[in-house]
Amino acid sequence: MEKKIILKYGELSTKKDNIGLFLKILKKNIAFNLMEEQVKIEYDNGRMFLTVPENYFNHVLNKLKTIFGIHEMVIGYEINSIEIDSIEESLKELIENKDFHTFKIETKRSNKNYPFKSPEINQRLGSYVLKKKENVKVDVHDPEITIHVEIRLQKSYLYFETEKGLGGYPVGTLGKGLLMLSGGIDSPIAGYLTMKRGVKLEAIYFESPPHTSLEAKKKVEELARKLSLYNQEIKLHVIKFTDIQEAIYKNIPHEYLITIMRRMMYRIAEKISRQENCKIIINGESIGQVASQTLTSMNAINSVVTIPVIRPLACFDKLEIIELAKKVGTYETSILPFEDCCTIFVPEHPVINPEIVKCEEYETKIPYETFIQEAIKNHEIIKISTKEKKFEDIL
Ligand code: ATP
Ligand code: MG
Repeated sequence: MEKKIILKYGELSTKKDNIGLFLKILKKNIAFNLMEEQVKIEYDNGRMFLTVPENYFNHVLNKLKTIFGIHEMVIGYEINSIEIDSIEESLKELIENKDFHTFKIETKRSNKNYPFKSPEINQRLGSYVLKKKENVKVDVHDPEITIHVEIRLQKSYLYFETEKGLGGYPVGTLGKGLLMLSGGIDSPIAGYLTMKRGVKLEAIYFESPPHTSLEAKKKVEELARKLSLYNQEIKLHVIKFTDIQEAIYKNIPHEYLITIMRRMMYRIAEKISRQENCKIIINGESIGQVASQTLTSMNAINSVVTIPVIRPLACFDKLEIIELAKKVGTYETSILPFEDCCTIFVPEHPVINPEIVKCEEYETKIPYETFIQEAIKNHEIIKISTKEKKFEDIL
Protein backbone atom coordinates (compact mmCIF):
# COMPACT_ATOMS: atom_id res chain seq x y z
CA MET A 1 0.00 0.00 0.00
CA GLU A 2 1.43 3.36 -0.99
CA LYS A 3 0.26 6.69 0.39
CA LYS A 4 -0.64 9.20 -2.33
CA ILE A 5 -2.52 12.45 -2.71
CA ILE A 6 -5.58 11.98 -4.88
CA LEU A 7 -7.11 14.99 -6.64
CA LYS A 8 -10.57 15.28 -8.15
CA TYR A 9 -11.31 17.96 -10.68
CA GLY A 10 -15.11 18.09 -10.75
CA GLU A 11 -16.39 20.62 -13.26
CA LEU A 12 -13.32 20.04 -15.39
CA SER A 13 -14.38 16.56 -16.27
CA THR A 14 -17.38 18.02 -18.14
CA LYS A 15 -15.02 19.66 -20.63
CA LYS A 16 -14.85 16.57 -22.79
CA ASP A 17 -13.17 17.97 -25.88
CA ASN A 18 -10.65 20.12 -24.08
CA ILE A 19 -9.93 17.87 -21.16
CA GLY A 20 -6.43 17.05 -22.43
CA LEU A 21 -5.40 20.69 -22.54
CA PHE A 22 -7.08 21.43 -19.20
CA LEU A 23 -5.24 18.59 -17.50
CA LYS A 24 -1.93 19.55 -19.05
CA ILE A 25 -2.26 23.07 -17.67
CA LEU A 26 -3.46 21.85 -14.28
CA LYS A 27 -0.48 19.52 -14.07
CA LYS A 28 1.88 22.35 -15.05
CA ASN A 29 0.34 24.65 -12.42
CA ILE A 30 0.69 21.98 -9.75
CA ALA A 31 4.28 21.29 -10.81
CA PHE A 32 5.05 25.02 -10.64
CA ASN A 33 3.71 25.28 -7.10
CA LEU A 34 5.41 22.15 -5.90
CA MET A 35 8.67 22.32 -7.79
CA GLU A 36 10.78 22.38 -4.64
CA GLU A 37 9.12 19.27 -3.26
CA GLN A 38 9.93 16.85 -6.10
CA VAL A 39 6.39 15.61 -6.43
CA LYS A 40 5.54 13.08 -9.12
CA ILE A 41 2.21 13.71 -10.86
CA GLU A 42 0.22 11.16 -12.83
CA TYR A 43 -3.34 11.27 -14.13
CA ASP A 44 -5.83 8.78 -15.29
CA ASN A 45 -9.55 8.88 -15.89
CA GLY A 46 -10.88 11.71 -13.71
CA ARG A 47 -8.19 11.65 -11.04
CA MET A 48 -4.71 12.97 -10.50
CA PHE A 49 -2.31 11.05 -8.26
CA LEU A 50 0.61 12.74 -6.55
CA THR A 51 3.53 10.82 -5.13
CA VAL A 52 4.87 12.96 -2.33
CA PRO A 53 7.98 12.52 -0.14
CA GLU A 54 7.05 11.31 3.35
CA ASN A 55 6.61 14.21 5.85
CA TYR A 56 5.47 16.58 3.10
CA PHE A 57 1.88 15.53 2.85
CA ASN A 58 0.29 18.35 4.86
CA HIS A 59 2.57 20.95 3.39
CA VAL A 60 1.68 19.81 -0.13
CA LEU A 61 -2.04 19.72 0.68
CA ASN A 62 -1.81 23.34 1.84
CA LYS A 63 -0.13 24.39 -1.37
CA LEU A 64 -2.76 22.56 -3.41
CA LYS A 65 -5.36 24.76 -1.75
CA THR A 66 -4.09 27.73 -3.78
CA ILE A 67 -4.53 26.02 -7.13
CA PHE A 68 -7.70 26.55 -9.14
CA GLY A 69 -9.10 23.53 -10.96
CA ILE A 70 -8.82 21.15 -7.99
CA HIS A 71 -12.22 20.41 -6.49
CA GLU A 72 -11.36 17.83 -3.86
CA MET A 73 -8.21 16.35 -2.44
CA VAL A 74 -7.40 13.56 -0.07
CA ILE A 75 -4.55 11.44 1.19
CA GLY A 76 -5.36 7.98 -0.12
CA TYR A 77 -3.82 4.52 -0.15
CA GLU A 78 -2.92 2.88 -3.42
CA ILE A 79 -3.14 -0.90 -3.62
CA ASN A 80 -1.30 -2.60 -6.46
CA SER A 81 -4.13 -4.98 -7.11
CA ILE A 82 -7.89 -5.02 -7.64
CA GLU A 83 -8.42 -8.37 -5.91
CA ILE A 84 -11.05 -8.05 -3.22
CA ASP A 85 -8.86 -10.02 -0.76
CA SER A 86 -6.02 -7.53 -1.16
CA ILE A 87 -8.43 -4.64 -0.64
CA GLU A 88 -9.72 -6.28 2.55
CA GLU A 89 -6.19 -6.80 3.80
CA SER A 90 -5.31 -3.13 3.29
CA LEU A 91 -8.59 -2.00 4.79
CA LYS A 92 -7.86 -4.01 7.91
CA GLU A 93 -4.57 -2.20 8.35
CA LEU A 94 -6.18 1.20 7.89
CA ILE A 95 -9.07 0.78 10.30
CA GLU A 96 -7.02 -0.87 13.02
CA ASN A 97 -6.01 2.38 14.66
CA LYS A 98 -8.93 4.49 13.53
CA ASP A 99 -11.46 5.49 16.13
CA PHE A 100 -15.08 5.46 14.95
CA HIS A 101 -18.48 4.07 15.85
CA THR A 102 -20.48 4.35 12.65
CA PHE A 103 -19.37 4.07 9.06
CA LYS A 104 -20.40 3.43 5.51
CA ILE A 105 -18.54 2.16 2.47
CA GLU A 106 -18.80 4.06 -0.79
CA THR A 107 -17.43 2.31 -3.84
CA LYS A 108 -16.67 3.76 -7.25
CA ARG A 109 -15.80 1.34 -9.97
CA SER A 110 -14.27 2.88 -13.08
CA ASN A 111 -13.28 -0.64 -14.15
CA LYS A 112 -16.58 -1.76 -15.63
CA ASN A 113 -15.31 -5.32 -16.22
CA TYR A 114 -14.88 -5.88 -12.53
CA PRO A 115 -16.78 -9.01 -11.44
CA PHE A 116 -18.67 -7.25 -8.62
CA LYS A 117 -20.96 -4.23 -8.85
CA SER A 118 -20.48 -1.29 -6.47
CA PRO A 119 -23.35 -2.22 -4.06
CA GLU A 120 -21.96 -5.76 -3.81
CA ILE A 121 -18.52 -4.42 -2.96
CA ASN A 122 -20.06 -2.08 -0.35
CA GLN A 123 -21.79 -5.02 1.23
CA ARG A 124 -18.82 -7.33 1.22
CA LEU A 125 -16.38 -4.75 2.63
CA GLY A 126 -19.00 -3.52 5.12
CA SER A 127 -19.41 -7.03 6.53
CA TYR A 128 -15.64 -7.34 6.64
CA VAL A 129 -15.30 -4.17 8.73
CA LEU A 130 -18.07 -5.34 11.09
CA LYS A 131 -16.18 -8.59 11.58
CA LYS A 132 -12.79 -7.00 12.20
CA LYS A 133 -13.74 -4.06 14.36
CA GLU A 134 -15.66 -4.25 17.60
CA ASN A 135 -18.52 -1.92 18.51
CA VAL A 136 -19.06 -0.39 15.11
CA LYS A 137 -22.28 -0.07 13.13
CA VAL A 138 -23.20 0.78 9.56
CA ASP A 139 -25.03 4.09 9.15
CA VAL A 140 -25.63 4.98 5.52
CA HIS A 141 -27.31 8.32 6.29
CA ASP A 142 -25.03 10.05 8.75
CA PRO A 143 -21.89 7.99 9.34
CA GLU A 144 -18.96 9.20 11.42
CA ILE A 145 -16.61 8.06 8.68
CA THR A 146 -17.04 7.17 5.04
CA ILE A 147 -14.62 4.62 3.66
CA HIS A 148 -14.16 5.36 -0.02
CA VAL A 149 -13.10 2.52 -2.30
CA GLU A 150 -12.13 3.09 -5.91
CA ILE A 151 -11.47 0.25 -8.27
CA ARG A 152 -9.60 1.20 -11.40
CA LEU A 153 -8.02 -0.90 -14.16
CA GLN A 154 -5.10 -2.41 -12.29
CA LYS A 155 -5.05 -0.60 -8.99
CA SER A 156 -7.48 0.20 -6.27
CA TYR A 157 -7.61 3.00 -3.71
CA LEU A 158 -8.88 3.49 -0.21
CA TYR A 159 -9.44 6.86 1.46
CA PHE A 160 -11.50 8.63 4.07
CA GLU A 161 -12.80 12.22 4.29
CA THR A 162 -11.87 14.45 1.38
CA GLU A 163 -11.02 18.16 1.67
CA LYS A 164 -12.38 20.84 -0.59
CA GLY A 165 -10.10 22.55 -3.11
CA LEU A 166 -10.67 25.98 -4.62
CA GLY A 167 -12.64 24.64 -7.58
CA GLY A 168 -12.89 26.59 -10.83
CA TYR A 169 -10.66 26.09 -13.86
CA PRO A 170 -6.85 25.91 -13.92
CA VAL A 171 -5.37 29.39 -14.35
CA GLY A 172 -4.29 29.87 -17.96
CA THR A 173 -6.83 27.57 -19.61
CA LEU A 174 -8.94 30.52 -20.75
CA GLY A 175 -6.12 32.85 -21.80
CA LYS A 176 -5.12 36.17 -20.25
CA GLY A 177 -6.92 39.22 -18.86
CA LEU A 178 -5.70 42.61 -17.62
CA LEU A 179 -6.80 43.49 -14.10
CA MET A 180 -7.12 47.18 -13.20
CA LEU A 181 -5.53 46.88 -9.78
CA SER A 182 -5.94 49.78 -7.36
CA GLY A 183 -5.02 49.65 -3.70
CA GLY A 184 -8.65 49.11 -2.66
CA ILE A 185 -10.55 46.12 -1.38
CA ASP A 186 -12.51 45.41 -4.55
CA SER A 187 -10.08 45.03 -7.42
CA PRO A 188 -7.92 42.21 -5.94
CA ILE A 189 -11.12 40.23 -5.36
CA ALA A 190 -12.30 40.91 -8.90
CA GLY A 191 -8.95 39.46 -9.99
CA TYR A 192 -9.28 36.45 -7.72
CA LEU A 193 -12.73 35.57 -9.08
CA THR A 194 -11.53 35.89 -12.66
CA MET A 195 -8.55 33.62 -12.01
CA LYS A 196 -11.05 31.12 -10.67
CA ARG A 197 -12.58 30.92 -14.15
CA GLY A 198 -9.18 29.97 -15.61
CA VAL A 199 -8.01 33.43 -16.70
CA LYS A 200 -4.35 34.24 -16.12
CA LEU A 201 -3.89 37.80 -14.90
CA GLU A 202 -1.66 40.67 -15.75
CA ALA A 203 -2.31 43.86 -13.81
CA ILE A 204 -2.25 47.58 -14.51
CA TYR A 205 -1.86 50.29 -11.89
CA PHE A 206 -2.17 54.04 -12.47
CA GLU A 207 -0.04 56.18 -10.20
CA SER A 208 0.26 59.96 -9.98
CA PRO A 209 3.48 60.86 -8.23
CA PRO A 210 3.99 63.15 -6.36
CA HIS A 211 0.25 63.21 -5.58
CA THR A 212 0.41 59.53 -4.77
CA SER A 213 3.11 58.08 -2.58
CA LEU A 214 5.64 55.31 -3.02
CA GLU A 215 3.83 53.50 -0.19
CA ALA A 216 0.66 53.42 -2.30
CA LYS A 217 2.60 51.76 -5.10
CA LYS A 218 4.25 49.30 -2.70
CA LYS A 219 0.80 48.43 -1.43
CA VAL A 220 -0.37 47.57 -4.95
CA GLU A 221 2.79 45.50 -5.47
CA GLU A 222 2.01 43.64 -2.26
CA LEU A 223 -1.55 42.97 -3.45
CA ALA A 224 -0.18 41.69 -6.76
CA ARG A 225 2.22 39.48 -4.81
CA LYS A 226 -0.70 38.02 -2.85
CA LEU A 227 -2.63 37.38 -6.06
CA SER A 228 0.44 35.80 -7.63
CA LEU A 229 0.05 32.96 -5.13
CA TYR A 230 -2.88 31.81 -7.26
CA ASN A 231 -1.48 32.98 -10.61
CA GLN A 232 2.19 31.89 -10.33
CA GLU A 233 3.49 35.31 -11.25
CA ILE A 234 1.98 38.62 -12.21
CA LYS A 235 3.26 41.15 -14.68
CA LEU A 236 2.34 44.52 -13.19
CA HIS A 237 2.19 47.46 -15.61
CA VAL A 238 2.68 50.75 -13.76
CA ILE A 239 1.42 53.77 -15.68
CA LYS A 240 2.46 57.32 -14.74
CA PHE A 241 -0.83 59.15 -14.84
CA THR A 242 0.28 62.51 -13.41
CA ASP A 243 0.38 64.55 -16.65
CA ILE A 244 -3.00 63.33 -17.82
CA GLN A 245 -4.56 63.82 -14.43
CA GLU A 246 -3.19 67.34 -14.00
CA ALA A 247 -4.35 68.30 -17.51
CA ILE A 248 -7.83 66.98 -16.72
CA TYR A 249 -7.84 68.86 -13.41
CA LYS A 250 -6.87 72.14 -15.09
CA ASN A 251 -9.11 71.98 -18.16
CA ILE A 252 -12.25 70.07 -17.40
CA PRO A 253 -15.29 71.00 -15.25
CA HIS A 254 -14.71 69.33 -11.92
CA GLU A 255 -17.94 67.40 -11.83
CA TYR A 256 -16.61 65.47 -14.87
CA LEU A 257 -13.11 64.83 -13.44
CA ILE A 258 -13.69 61.24 -12.45
CA THR A 259 -15.65 60.31 -15.57
CA ILE A 260 -12.95 61.63 -17.90
CA MET A 261 -10.16 60.23 -15.78
CA ARG A 262 -11.73 56.78 -15.93
CA ARG A 263 -12.24 57.04 -19.67
CA MET A 264 -8.48 57.68 -19.95
CA MET A 265 -7.72 54.69 -17.74
CA TYR A 266 -9.91 52.47 -19.91
CA ARG A 267 -8.25 53.71 -23.10
CA ILE A 268 -4.79 52.94 -21.72
CA ALA A 269 -5.87 49.58 -20.29
CA GLU A 270 -7.28 48.58 -23.68
CA LYS A 271 -4.03 49.47 -25.46
CA ILE A 272 -1.91 47.53 -22.95
CA SER A 273 -4.32 44.59 -23.25
CA ARG A 274 -3.88 44.48 -27.02
CA GLN A 275 -0.09 44.67 -26.66
CA GLU A 276 -0.01 41.85 -24.12
CA ASN A 277 -2.59 39.64 -25.81
CA CYS A 278 -5.04 40.03 -22.92
CA LYS A 279 -8.54 39.31 -24.15
CA ILE A 280 -10.49 41.16 -21.45
CA ILE A 281 -10.13 43.98 -18.94
CA ILE A 282 -11.20 43.18 -15.39
CA ASN A 283 -12.02 45.72 -12.69
CA GLY A 284 -13.61 45.98 -9.26
CA GLU A 285 -16.59 48.13 -10.20
CA SER A 286 -19.82 47.33 -8.41
CA ILE A 287 -23.18 48.74 -9.50
CA GLY A 288 -24.08 51.86 -7.56
CA GLN A 289 -21.05 51.80 -5.24
CA VAL A 290 -19.89 55.32 -6.16
CA ALA A 291 -20.89 58.04 -8.66
CA SER A 292 -18.69 56.54 -11.37
CA GLN A 293 -20.47 53.21 -11.04
CA THR A 294 -24.05 54.22 -11.82
CA LEU A 295 -25.41 52.60 -14.95
CA THR A 296 -25.16 55.88 -16.89
CA SER A 297 -21.57 56.39 -15.69
CA MET A 298 -20.65 52.88 -16.71
CA ASN A 299 -22.01 53.61 -20.19
CA ALA A 300 -20.10 56.87 -20.51
CA ILE A 301 -16.87 55.26 -19.32
CA ASN A 302 -17.20 51.94 -21.13
CA SER A 303 -18.02 53.59 -24.47
CA VAL A 304 -14.37 54.46 -25.18
CA VAL A 305 -13.28 50.83 -25.54
CA THR A 306 -14.39 47.82 -27.56
CA ILE A 307 -12.62 45.14 -25.53
CA PRO A 308 -14.95 43.29 -23.11
CA VAL A 309 -14.81 44.66 -19.58
CA ILE A 310 -15.57 42.04 -16.94
CA ARG A 311 -16.83 43.22 -13.56
CA PRO A 312 -17.01 40.14 -11.35
CA LEU A 313 -18.23 42.24 -8.40
CA ALA A 314 -20.95 44.09 -10.30
CA CYS A 315 -23.68 42.58 -8.12
CA PHE A 316 -21.84 42.07 -4.83
CA ASP A 317 -22.46 44.05 -1.62
CA LYS A 318 -19.44 45.65 -0.04
CA LEU A 319 -19.81 43.36 2.98
CA GLU A 320 -19.71 40.28 0.77
CA ILE A 321 -16.58 41.61 -0.90
CA ILE A 322 -14.92 42.27 2.46
CA GLU A 323 -15.71 38.76 3.63
CA LEU A 324 -14.14 37.31 0.51
CA ALA A 325 -11.10 39.60 0.80
CA LYS A 326 -10.49 38.25 4.31
CA LYS A 327 -10.65 34.69 3.00
CA VAL A 328 -8.38 35.37 0.05
CA GLY A 329 -5.87 37.19 2.26
CA THR A 330 -5.84 40.62 0.60
CA TYR A 331 -7.99 42.53 3.12
CA GLU A 332 -5.25 43.50 5.59
CA THR A 333 -3.16 45.02 2.81
CA SER A 334 -6.12 46.73 1.14
CA ILE A 335 -7.07 48.65 4.27
CA LEU A 336 -3.65 50.24 4.71
CA PRO A 337 -4.29 53.98 4.51
CA PHE A 338 -2.32 55.10 1.42
CA GLU A 339 -4.20 57.22 -1.07
CA ASP A 340 -4.40 56.22 -4.69
CA CYS A 341 -4.78 58.59 -7.61
CA CYS A 342 -8.57 58.52 -7.66
CA THR A 343 -9.05 59.64 -4.12
CA ILE A 344 -6.79 62.69 -4.48
CA PHE A 345 -8.64 64.30 -7.37
CA VAL A 346 -12.16 63.54 -6.15
CA PRO A 347 -14.47 66.51 -6.79
CA GLU A 348 -17.06 67.54 -4.23
CA HIS A 349 -20.00 66.80 -6.53
CA PRO A 350 -19.13 64.23 -9.18
CA VAL A 351 -21.71 63.88 -11.93
CA ILE A 352 -24.00 60.89 -11.44
CA ASN A 353 -25.45 60.82 -14.94
CA PRO A 354 -22.62 61.96 -17.25
CA GLU A 355 -23.44 62.63 -20.89
CA ILE A 356 -21.20 61.09 -23.52
CA VAL A 357 -21.41 64.19 -25.79
CA LYS A 358 -20.19 66.36 -22.95
CA CYS A 359 -17.31 63.97 -22.22
CA GLU A 360 -16.30 64.14 -25.88
CA GLU A 361 -16.55 67.92 -25.96
CA TYR A 362 -14.46 68.37 -22.80
CA GLU A 363 -11.85 65.93 -24.00
CA THR A 364 -11.09 68.10 -27.04
CA LYS A 365 -9.48 70.50 -24.57
CA ILE A 366 -6.60 68.17 -23.81
CA PRO A 367 -4.20 66.44 -26.23
CA TYR A 368 -4.92 63.17 -24.56
CA GLU A 369 -3.73 60.92 -27.40
CA THR A 370 -0.20 62.27 -26.99
CA PHE A 371 -0.35 61.90 -23.21
CA ILE A 372 -1.56 58.33 -23.58
CA GLN A 373 1.16 57.41 -26.06
CA GLU A 374 3.84 58.88 -23.78
CA ALA A 375 2.46 57.13 -20.70
CA ILE A 376 2.44 53.78 -22.48
CA LYS A 377 5.89 54.25 -23.99
CA ASN A 378 7.45 55.07 -20.62
CA HIS A 379 5.55 52.64 -18.46
CA GLU A 380 7.28 50.43 -15.94
CA ILE A 381 6.87 46.65 -15.82
CA ILE A 382 7.34 44.83 -12.53
CA LYS A 383 7.33 41.03 -12.49
CA ILE A 384 5.92 39.82 -9.24
CA SER A 385 6.11 36.29 -7.96
CA THR A 386 6.18 34.49 -4.66
CA LYS A 387 8.80 32.16 -6.10
CA GLU A 388 12.50 32.89 -6.11
CA LYS A 389 13.36 30.30 -8.73
CA LYS A 390 11.88 30.49 -12.21
CA PHE A 391 9.90 27.49 -13.39
CA GLU A 392 11.77 27.50 -16.72
CA ASP A 393 15.09 27.17 -14.87
CA ILE A 394 14.24 23.81 -13.44
CA LEU A 395 12.51 22.22 -16.42
P1 ATP B 1 -11.34 49.16 -5.13
O1 ATP B 1 -12.52 49.18 -6.02
O2 ATP B 1 -10.21 48.37 -5.70
O3 ATP B 1 -11.66 48.83 -3.73
P2 ATP B 1 -11.88 51.75 -5.06
O4 ATP B 1 -13.24 51.29 -4.68
O5 ATP B 1 -11.23 52.84 -4.33
O6 ATP B 1 -10.89 50.60 -5.05
P3 ATP B 1 -12.99 52.75 -7.41
O7 ATP B 1 -12.78 54.18 -7.45
O8 ATP B 1 -14.27 52.15 -6.97
O9 ATP B 1 -11.84 52.09 -6.59
O10 ATP B 1 -12.59 52.19 -8.84
C1 ATP B 1 -13.26 51.11 -9.45
C2 ATP B 1 -12.26 50.19 -10.11
O11 ATP B 1 -11.40 50.89 -11.02
C3 ATP B 1 -11.31 49.57 -9.13
O12 ATP B 1 -11.88 48.43 -8.53
C4 ATP B 1 -10.15 49.20 -10.00
O13 ATP B 1 -10.40 48.04 -10.74
C5 ATP B 1 -10.10 50.38 -10.98
N1 ATP B 1 -9.15 51.41 -10.50
C6 ATP B 1 -9.41 52.49 -9.73
N2 ATP B 1 -8.28 53.17 -9.47
C7 ATP B 1 -7.27 52.52 -10.09
C8 ATP B 1 -5.86 52.73 -10.20
N3 ATP B 1 -5.25 53.74 -9.62
N4 ATP B 1 -5.14 51.84 -10.92
C9 ATP B 1 -5.74 50.78 -11.52
N5 ATP B 1 -7.06 50.55 -11.43
C10 ATP B 1 -7.83 51.40 -10.75
MG1 MG C 1 -14.65 50.08 -5.54
